[in-house]
Amino acid sequence: MSNMNSQIIFYGAGQYARANLKRLVSEGLIPLCFVDKNPHKHHTKLDGYDILPLSEAVSKYPNYVLYLTLTTGNLLEATEYLLANGITSESIKYVEPTERRLGCMWLDGVMQITSQYFYICCHPIRAKGIQYNNLKDCYEKYQSTITQLIDDLRNKKRTFCNGCEYLRDGIWSAKLELRNIIFQGDFEDDLCNFNCLYCITKPHLLKKNEKRKNLIDVIYQISKIDELKGINLDFANGEVTARRDFDQLLQLVQDNGFTVSFVTNGSIYKQNIVDLIHCGLVSYINVSLDSGTAETFAKIKGVDCFKKVVDNLERYYEAGANIYLKYILLEGLNDNELDIDSFVDIAAKIKANVWLSADLFKRERERELNSHSMDMCLRFIKNVKTHNLNISYDPGCFHRVDVEKINDFLTK
Ligand code: SF4
Repeated sequence: MSNMNSQIIFYGAGQYARANLKRLVSEGLIPLCFVDKNPHKHHTKLDGYDILPLSEAVSKYPNYVLYLTLTTGNLLEATEYLLANGITSESIKYVEPTERRLGCMWLDGVMQITSQYFYICCHPIRAKGIQYNNLKDCYEKYQSTITQLIDDLRNKKRTFCNGCEYLRDGIWSAKLELRNIIFQGDFEDDLCNFNCLYCITKPHLLKKNEKRKNLIDVIYQISKIDELKGINLDFANGEVTARRDFDQLLQLVQDNGFTVSFVTNGSIYKQNIVDLIHCGLVSYINVSLDSGTAETFAKIKGVDCFKKVVDNLERYYEAGANIYLKYILLEGLNDNELDIDSFVDIAAKIKANVWLSADLFKRERERELNSHSMDMCLRFIKNVKTHNLNISYDPGCFHRVDVEKINDFLTK
C-alpha cells in the first residue's frame, strides 16, 4: 500500500484508528507513530504507538507520508488543516478509496432497517422507507438506491438530499460499501423497559397484530451474504438487552465475526457484552442519559434508575468500552445548569463522546429553541469542550437558525 522508503505516520488517534488499526497493520500499513490534533493525547500511546504533535512527528520522520485515520466526515477538514500547516498534498494519503463530492455521514455505508423497510439514512424527517422482503432483496435494493443517489449527487442533480442539514462538500468514500446496519424498531419480540417522553419506537412495539420479522433469522440471512461479512450491526431496536433471546443473538454475532454497537438505555448490565468488549468486537455503546440528576432522569425516562445506569456505564467503561453519551435537550426539563453540569462530569469520568440532540418530535419543527434553552445549549457545548471531550450534535433535530448558532459556537 505504500512506498517502501516512506515513513508511515497515522494522522488521527481516535475512534476510527482504534477500530481499524489491526486491520490496517494486517494489510501492511504499519505506522511509526500517530499524530493527533488534540494536545491532551500528545505523548500518550495508542496500542503501543506514540501519539505525537504534528511538528515533532514530521521532524522525527522526515521521509513521512501521513495516512488519515479518520472517519470520512472529518477528512476534508483534516486535509485542509494539514495543507495549511505546510504538509504537501503528495504526503497526504487516505486509507480507503475516496472522492471529493457532496455527501453525508449516513451515505457512507450506513443503513437503517426495520421489519419491513430500510432507510439509506437516519434523517428524522427526510429518510424514506423502502420496502423489502428478505435480506438479499434488501441489500440489492440498498445498493442500487445508494449507487443512483451518489451518482446524482456527483452530477449535481436534484435529489431528496437537497437542502438537508447533513449534506456537505467533503472527502467521502468512493467505494459504496455497506458497513453498518442499524436495527431500528419493530422486530418480533422487541420490547423496552423504559417509557421515555420522546420515544417514537415504543408505540410501534406495543402494536400486537403487525407481522414482524424475526431478528435472529435476519442476522442469519446477513451472515450468508459474502459482501456483508464482518460488518457492524447496531442494535437500536427498543431495548435489545431486554430481549429474551439476547444471549443467542450475541452468540450468532460472535460466531460470524460481526462487530456490534448498542443503543441502549443502560439499565441492564450484561456480562456477555463485557466479554465481547474484551474480544474487541464492540464498536461502541450509545446511551441517551439526557440528564445529570436522578430527578430529571426519572421525569424523562419514566423509570427511577439513574444511579444504576451511571454505575453500568462506569463498568462498561472500565471494561474498555467506547461510550457515546447523548443529551436530548428538552425545553423546561433538562435545560438547566445542574443537569447539564452533572451530565458533563459523568461524561468526563467515562471519557465519553458526547452527542447533543433535541426533541424534534415534541417541538414544532419550524420553531427555534427559546433563548434560555439556547443559552443552556451553548453552556453545554462550552462545558464539554472545557473537559476536552469529543462533541457532535444532530443538525437534523435543530432549527436552521439554531444550527448556525451552534456551528459558530463550535468553531470558536
Ligand atoms: S437526506 Fe440528508 S441525512 Fe439523508 S442521505 Fe441525504 S444528506 Fe444524508
